[in-house]
Amino acid sequence: MKFIETRGNDGIHPQAITFSEAILSPIASFGGLYVPETLPHLGEAFLAKHRDSSYKELAKDLLTTLEIDIAPSIIDEALALYDTFDDPSNPVPVVKVRDDLYVSELYHGPTRAFKDMALQPFGILLSSIAQKRGEEYLILAATSGDTGPAALETFKNRPNVRVVCLYPDGGTSDVQRLQMVTEDAPNLKVIGIKGDFDDAQSALKRLLASTPFKDALRAKKISLSAANSVNFGRIIFQIIYHIHSYLELVRQNVITMGEKVYLDVPSGNFGNALGGYYAYKMGLPVEKIIIASNENNVLTRLINTGRYDLRGEKVIATTSPAMDILISSNVERILFDFFGSDRTKELLQGLENDRFYTLTDDETMKLQGIFSADYCNGAEGKGYIKEAFDSGYLMDPHTATCFKAYDCCATQPLKTIVYSTAEWTKFSPTIANALTGETDIHDIDALKLISETAKISIPPMINGLFTKPVTQGSVIEKENIENEILKFL
Ligand SMILES: *Cc1c(COP(=O)(O)O)cnc(C)c1O
Repeated sequence: MKFIETRGNDGIHPQAITFSEAILSPIASFGGLYVPETLPHLGEAFLAKHRDSSYKELAKDLLTTLEIDIAPSIIDEALALYDTFDDPSNPVPVVKVRDDLYVSELYHGPTRAFKDMALQPFGILLSSIAQKRGEEYLILAATSGDTGPAALETFKNRPNVRVVCLYPDGGTSDVQRLQMVTEDAPNLKVIGIKGDFDDAQSALKRLLASTPFKDALRAKKISLSAANSVNFGRIIFQIIYHIHSYLELVRQNVITMGEKVYLDVPSGNFGNALGGYYAYKMGLPVEKIIIASNENNVLTRLINTGRYDLRGEKVIATTSPAMDILISSNVERILFDFFGSDRTKELLQGLENDRFYTLTDDETMKLQGIFSADYCNGAEGKGYIKEAFDSGYLMDPHTATCFKAYDCCATQPLKTIVYSTAEWTKFSPTIANALTGETDIHDIDALKLISETAKISIPPMINGLFTKPVTQGSVIEKENIENEILKFL
């Protein structure tokens, strides 16, 4: 599979690159992204062949069909990481929650959020490409809470890769912070920033553009790369579970092969939804992909009105913080797929220069042919958490946004797959509040309260965090980040 660019070619970047090249340098001409030049049509034959496959068998065949330039033994090694999930025979359980609504649980990996689905195997891929080339890479990550722990976990002790992870001190949950500051490996550095997530993110962008910093890295023979969700090395692993979830419904005799379903995705940077879109393009029987958002509802407005408008907008802090985002990077890949590179470049430059773009009515209708969207506020979300709990299902606030979107957008009597992106343990104060009305409660007490109320035990990797030694204590002013990183290197 070859990769081409969403904003066209600038004459400096190569016209088309391989999968491993797209992993190492994910940014294309004019600030665009890499997308597959073509996607194979899998169709019903592929689905029928994998009716009874394990997750790994399905994944292996899909990656082979996509013809990526990664040795089969490395692919096997990467996929073997799904064996560390709660149930190695089925890393992604799909459970019935309402009559027509099934939840695909993407959080059974080591850090209890769906970032593990892609970052776990991605770590092996990146490290093996770096080893093969005899190069050293530095991964810089700014996190609001879920990407950081997942990136540290996957790169821990991996050769040829070092990770520096910046997080806003006080801006993550206790569990998320402990998952980072208790990570102990010589190739990892975690830095708390006095500031918010935007400060961490802009510090990172400044570094990526800083010539002295890049010179210092070059002197140490280290190249920079990124593990953020625009990296196609992550997207590719997010196609698999959409197909798996569909096949799970077939296996459970909930649908017959070929029957259409709704995919209902809690969305931020649109990586998860994009994986579903690619699965649909390759032939998965999908009626609509429902995009669920929180109060930061740019995606709802884009899909329902054709306008992406950030003028006067600020990120709102919500109870589903992993979706607190205004610039949803992977939408660009959808625009490219529908409207081509010239139009994508024009639209995205509008967003960068004027903070908005407007699709034509015709373009909006095309988008609405496959996507529908709604958003859910915090109070509604808590209502859905309580309601689901009363009927026996415990879910997190990100997953809850999908229930609102389901009520609004799943208009036909078809089955819906809701994607659950985090375990209850990662956002326990909000859930404790939804279940008991308790406010101002810290993670440790919220975890105990939910555990007692729901008669469910706290998983060991979360419980253990509170007694694990803190090895990554540094919290610094944002002006000192560069020095701190160079000291570590
Ligand atoms: C990252 C994340 C999301 C958003 O996923 P995107 O692929 O960025 O749309 C939703 N929920 C949780 C818990 C996450 O960590």
